Amino acid sequence: MSHDYTAIREEVAKLCAAFPGPYWQAKDKVREYPSEFVAALGEAGYLAALIPEEYGGAGLPLSAAAAILEEIQRQGCNGGAVHAQMYVMGTVLRHGSEEQKARYLPKVATGELRLQAFGVTEPTSGTDTLSLKTVARKDGDEYIVNGQKLWTSRAEHSDLMILLARTTPRDRAASRTEGLSVFLVDMKEALAAGTLSIRPIDTMMNHATTEIFFDNMRIPAANLIGEEGKGFRYILSGMNAERLLIAAECIGDAKWFIDKASNYAKERVLFGRPIGQNQGVQFPIARAYAQMRAAELLVHEGLARYEAGDNAGAEANMAKMLAAEASWAAGEACIQTHGGFGFAAEYDIERKFRETRLYQVAPISTNMILSYVAEHVLGMPRSY
Ligand SMILES: Cc1cc2nc3c(=O)[nH]c(=O)nc-3n(C[C@H](O)[C@H](O)[C@H](O)COP(=O)(O)OP(=O)(O)OC[C@H]3O[C@@H](n4cnc5c(N)ncnc54)[C@H](O)[C@@H]3O)c2cc1C
Repeated sequence: MSHDYTAIREEVAKLCAAFPGPYWQAKDKVREYPSEFVAALGEAGYLAALIPEEYGGAGLPLSAAAAILEEIQRQGCNGGAVHAQMYVMGTVLRHGSEEQKARYLPKVATGELRLQAFGVTEPTSGTDTLSLKTVARKDGDEYIVNGQKLWTSRAEHSDLMILLARTTPRDRAASRTEGLSVFLVDMKEALAAGTLSIRPIDTMMNHATTEIFFDNMRIPAANLIGEEGKGFRYILSGMNAERLLIAAECIGDAKWFIDKASNYAKERVLFGRPIGQNQGVQFPIARAYAQMRAAELLVHEGLARYEAGDNAGAEANMAKMLAAEASWAAGEACIQTHGGFGFAAEYDIERKFRETRLYQVAPISTNMILSYVAEHVLGMPRSY
């Protein structure tokens, strides 16, 4: 396998060719989940890229998953519908028991079980995760969960959910970051029992995101992942991988916008010459390209550090921020280059423009990344 995964990228591009712009526009119009696309990626094995071979996955490194997601975005598709099936299982893989791994991962690898719901954010805590209010109370060999999650994406298209809930009241926890625990929730079972309900949220792009309510939901104690009270640490440990993968998606988006903009600038003739002959049109595209390449270098640096087992926190955060800003700059240049046509749904630019905007806010907003860099890299005083 070549270092830049040329063969994988070519295969992903071929698969994506069966899902052109009109497919995504039709789904976007009625906010329908792209089930056919998800099924095709699953059958081809891409969603099991990060699951070790012993559990039926491809056992590929993070950089291969990044190449897959980048290519999906570069081809104009929307990886937001599938990326979580690739990496949410990481919490089970890293912190689950042998029994949990053997029970769930092979089925996640085949797609028989969809594990792509990740319940962390809540209405009143948001970015301030340690203030979350969903409570899991131990009752014999079960936990009883009450509370609410917000923005739990793909919940309607998932069998399992990774849930972060408070198991020890904040004032009785051993430290600021203790007292939260991670559970693997069988959503189908809880839905059938009527103890979990899902409400879709209508959003500016097609993202299948929801609000979830827990009403005395019972989870077997065996579904606790790792040690009780250590959940915040487990969730944090997966964040660098997630940030690098989202950054790779943004790089793919930026490349899609830049190709589209530069091609149009060469073809559209006004005042007797291609609009791309005007530097006012060229420069924003060229600047976006430079921004994208710089961000791409940092994504590669982050992936290399991650795969070497080094702390990739600074690079993963900065790569995510810069890549999300680069894709936005590229989207902005692409719309502007297309003039009025940029707003027409059939050109597909406005859809990608809406989709790529998310990544400056989720899974972590730019301000929180700057705060990380200021405090953890530059050693400035903590702000919260
Ligand atoms: C479409 C979509 C899908 C999502 N999917 C999921 C999911 O599957 N699972 C999940 O758990 N979450 C999900 N999220 C939630 C996402 O991770 C959060 O929206 C994000 O972390 C920001 O939290 P918030 O929306 O509560 O904003 P808030 O925390 O309320 O912050 C609002 C603004 O204030 C800024 N801010 C807050 N505190 C500070 C500070 N101390 N200094 C400077 N600025 C600050 C933030 O940067 C932000 O810009 C999703 C969100 C969206 C929109």
